[in-house]
Amino acid sequence: MGEKHRVVILGGGFGGLAAAQKLKRVPVEVTLIDRRNFHLFQPLLYQVATGSLSPGEIAAPLRGVLSRQKNTCVLLGEAVDVDPQAKRVILRDGAAFEYDSLIVATGTQTSYYGNDSWREWAPSLKSVEEAAERAATPEEARAWLTFVIVGAGATGLELSGALAEIANETLRHDFRKINPQEARIILMEGAPRVLGPFPEDLSAKAEKLVTHLGVEVIKGVMVTNIDAGGVTFKRGDSHETLAAKTVLWAGGVTATAFGRKLAERTNSESDRGGRIKVNRDLTVPNFPDIFIIGDLAHAVDEKGTPLPGVAQVAMQGGAYAVKVIRARLEGQREPPPFHYFNKGEMAVIGRASAVANIFGVHVSGLLAWLMWLFIHLIYIVEFQSRIMVFIQWGFEYLTFSRGARLITGDASSEPPQNPVTHA
Ligand SMILES: Cc1cc2nc3c(=O)[nH]c(=O)nc-3n(C[C@H](O)[C@H](O)[C@H](O)COP(=O)(O)OP(=O)(O)OC[C@H]3O[C@@H](n4cnc5c(N)ncnc54)[C@H](O)[C@@H]3O)c2cc1C
Repeated sequence: MGEKHRVVILGGGFGGLAAAQKLKRVPVEVTLIDRRNFHLFQPLLYQVATGSLSPGEIAAPLRGVLSRQKNTCVLLGEAVDVDPQAKRVILRDGAAFEYDSLIVATGTQTSYYGNDSWREWAPSLKSVEEAAERAATPEEARAWLTFVIVGAGATGLELSGALAEIANETLRHDFRKINPQEARIILMEGAPRVLGPFPEDLSAKAEKLVTHLGVEVIKGVMVTNIDAGGVTFKRGDSHETLAAKTVLWAGGVTATAFGRKLAERTNSESDRGGRIKVNRDLTVPNFPDIFIIGDLAHAVDEKGTPLPGVAQVAMQGGAYAVKVIRARLEGQREPPPFHYFNKGEMAVIGRASAVANIFGVHVSGLLAWLMWLFIHLIYIVEFQSRIMVFIQWGFEYLTFSRGARLITGDASSEPPQNPVTHA
């Protein structure tokens, strides 16, 4: 018997973890490398950003999750380079790992569409309310209470809805000098409607729901600059500026430095968002032993339409890559091209409302929200977190409170400085 087939997985997010778990009973040696030691349940990041969940509730240590999987070793490290000819990945600390099959699932990062200086204004919501209460003048306080969210996809809608609820309900009685209900929450979108990929009736419903919460929706505008003064945008032929201390970016994602390096080393083509174009079996052209799954892959369906950057695509991609590896090891015919089974899409808009398109059935309001809640609880990796999140949400639902509103920085400095929010 020769040595075992070595599978190296880069990234323990949705795609990488799914692949690792599917390899449990395959006679291979698995090494999962992630630059963080935990799996992060990104769909609930807004709930952390807006204070309704604590970070620990949406993160699970990778070693713990895979502890019973004897063929798998979890390592902390950041992949920075790959040598596809020598079949080797290189980590930041110089360590090198050889593979027989490589599954790359390193995801993407927030994109500012080439305007990286905008990143400077990326906010942490926890500090904003504090700054507003300390503001010297009502005008300054008002500026602190103006929030602009750029991008009205599921991310932007969810954030704006959560902010409106925090302002109107959660913080109502907490401050003396400011009135959180005066907060302006503005959602900007370049397209003519919110939730572009959703069916039109659900887009319209979502806009109505978020407007009902007090969010101002501005469509058909292009943001051209974000700086300390606020946001400049183009509406038709005119440029307008909106004074805002906090701008939240929900406008798009792009490839990471490692993703770009991989494209360079394999001489492969990327799309505008930096996602690497893969074959229909999720392998890199000319490199059948390198799979790219999840957000970093530009994979297409039967009609040539790119697959969306969602958790289901990543997880199904991970399972598919394992099927191919297994078939090769067993000397069997490889499975047919990757087919994404779309179970539907949903976006949550507030405390008890959402829109959902499940197998073509359009649902909105409370029923859609209950479905959203159920699905998110099922997919949270750790059982203990599932229970904690359920209790936390139940409590918040009944009381309008947000449990995780702790400001974790220190108070020795002035109210938040950049890069936290606009100074
Ligand atoms: C705020 C937010 C909300 C979202 N909401 C939803 C939702 O409601 N529904 C939905 O379906 N999808 C949602 N998504 C999208 C979903 O999270 C992604 O599609 C999914 O995470 C993609 O999985 P992935 O495995 O490709 O990457 P990720 O899950 O992002 O995992 C990538 C992993 O790779 C690691 N990594 C990165 N670079 C390196 C490196 N160089 N070396 C080693 N490790 C590295 C990271 O630490 C991370 O653990 C949301 C995303 C965000 C950001």
